[in-house]
Amino acid sequence: MDFGLRAENAKLLDRVRAMIRDEVMPLEEEYEREINTGDRWQYTARQAEILEGLKAKAKAAGLWNFWLTDSEKGFGLSTVEYAYFAEEMGRTPLGAEVFNCSAPDTGNMEVFERYGTPKMKEEWLMPLLDGQIRSAYVMTEPNVASSDATNISMSCVRDGDHYVLNGEKWWISGAGDPRCKVYIVMVKTGGEDQPKHRRHSMIVVPAGLPGIEILRPMQVYGADDAPHGHMHMRFTDVRVPAENMLIGEGHGFEIAQGRLGPGRIHHCMRAIGQAESALEMMCKRSLEREAFGKPLALLGANFDIVAECRMEIEQARLLCLKAAWYMDQGDKRAAAPWISMIKTVAPRMALKVIDEATQLFGAQGISQDTSLASKWTHVRTLRFADGPDAVHRRQIARAELRKYTQMKI
Ligand SMILES: Cc1cc2nc3c(=O)[nH]c(=O)nc-3n(C[C@H](O)[C@H](O)[C@H](O)COP(=O)(O)OP(=O)(O)OC[C@H]3O[C@@H](n4cnc5c(N)ncnc54)[C@H](O)[C@@H]3O)c2cc1C
Repeated sequence: MDFGLRAENAKLLDRVRAMIRDEVMPLEEEYEREINTGDRWQYTARQAEILEGLKAKAKAAGLWNFWLTDSEKGFGLSTVEYAYFAEEMGRTPLGAEVFNCSAPDTGNMEVFERYGTPKMKEEWLMPLLDGQIRSAYVMTEPNVASSDATNISMSCVRDGDHYVLNGEKWWISGAGDPRCKVYIVMVKTGGEDQPKHRRHSMIVVPAGLPGIEILRPMQVYGADDAPHGHMHMRFTDVRVPAENMLIGEGHGFEIAQGRLGPGRIHHCMRAIGQAESALEMMCKRSLEREAFGKPLALLGANFDIVAECRMEIEQARLLCLKAAWYMDQGDKRAAAPWISMIKTVAPRMALKVIDEATQLFGAQGISQDTSLASKWTHVRTLRFADGPDAVHRRQIARAELRKYTQMKI
């Protein structure tokens, strides 16, 4: 197993690191302030200038679309190598988007690349790869337990050369963004006569078709995450051209599996970056602030806390790299339990580190004056998004128990 970076990619990573430190992070605070200026769901001129300016710089420097692992269009990074890049980008909320590596677009681009028609690639993949538009992945529904995707119930009925969609979806990340122009929607096309995993399909739906309503932004502990958002949506008699069905009816699960594997691990890599940045904040703050005549770092059990955080980050990173390595071997079945392990471990670890950093910061740590509170809420959502912990633990346990039994588990 090789968890290293090739020399040329180590240099590339240094350039990404430098750009994040010198150009992205200094604009982060102003960008956040701009969100609260005027309509939170539109980009102010300054907000757009910051974001598009950084994207243009990254693109001009050739620091773009790293997530396209082993592809002619990307840098040919392995998943292991990409882990280091995603971790760096995870240190700042703007990081992934500046380099065109953000969710849910990366997963959606993979779907278009693997399963899209030439027309879809022209219409949606190209502008996504170019960072001109954004997209959303539309699966979860309010009225069914969506961690079991066989429950998904949005109806999708063929009517001539169209499909007609009806139903509600919620927690649709990115659907609040005015630049979000396309959705990949999981729908139900098959009945009880079909095998359970052949009853669902994925269809490409242009945003803004008649009958699509954005009902409200869902809030994460009170935060609406504007202008990206996690939207509650209703589809009423939405007519979608039949040619927009991805590789035909009944292939929804096949596509979902291909899409969510890489996406899950990218979230984990970025969560490790968030933990690293929280630990850095904790160390710096606890060395420069004093109580009882000493820097906070030297008081009580704070040495142990710093050490525990460092050890847990390193453990999670190694597990993440091992999962990435399994993905690089190309055997999805062998990689699956490793992806589930890191999907469970990384957010838990990052939550602990961010919480310890918050505690050492004092009350300011839970306020709007540091990034710790938003880091914590963001990482907390990862224990649901792309499958709750319990579902991943189930996969891990099944793989483990199957080693010792022929029983159907
Ligand atoms: C911030 C955020 C962003 C999101 N973005 C998107 C998005 O862009 N697109 C999208 O489609 N969805 C998105 N989601 C939704 C997310 O994927 C779902 O919330 C998740 O799949 C769980 O579905 P559910 O909420 O219906 O929970 P349920 O399916 O109702 O599960 C509830 C709980 O039941 C328990 N449970 C479930 N299965 C098992 C099991 N096998 N064993 C033991 N216990 C179990 C777990 O404790 C689980 O947390 C997002 C969610 C959040 C919070």
